[in-house]
Amino acid sequence: MILRFRRHHFLCSLGFQGKGYSEAFTANMDAVVNGRLRAPQGAAEEIEVVAGADAICAPCPERRGEGCAKQARIDRLDAAHGAALGLAPGDRISWGDALARIRARVQPGDLARICKGCGWLELGLCEAALGQLHAGEG
Ligand code: SF4
Repeated sequence: MILRFRRHHFLCSLGFQGKGYSEAFTANMDAVVNGRLRAPQGAAEEIEVVAGADAICAPCPERRGEGCAKQARIDRLDAAHGAALGLAPGDRISWGDALARIRARVQPGDLARICKGCGWLELGLCEAALGQLHAGEG
């Protein structure tokens, strides 16, 4: 089944290191990221960009139907990441092409701006993953 991602979850998936908002959230994200995107054929995974709750949001304790308890912050992240990546709801892109797009359009250090307000930013895991992608290790 095709994956559905809201705009800011492309970079969150790149940076995922097994941490999440709850046990169920983390297990689901592990299945999506490690089970599909980082699998041997993961680059070919097709992803549809959506405006609301997606494959990663599904078991999140903050999800409220198609929305989020932190909607304003999520909207801001989606807008910033969508602008950075040139992606809008309704677009389709493979994970491999998404990685190429991240590499071309998001430079090391950019997350401090486009991820502003995200609680995971200060851990540095996402910035480290972005650096590895640029170094050709992603
Ligand atoms: S800092 Fe937050 S919004 Fe940015 S990529 Fe990481 S988890 Fe996603």
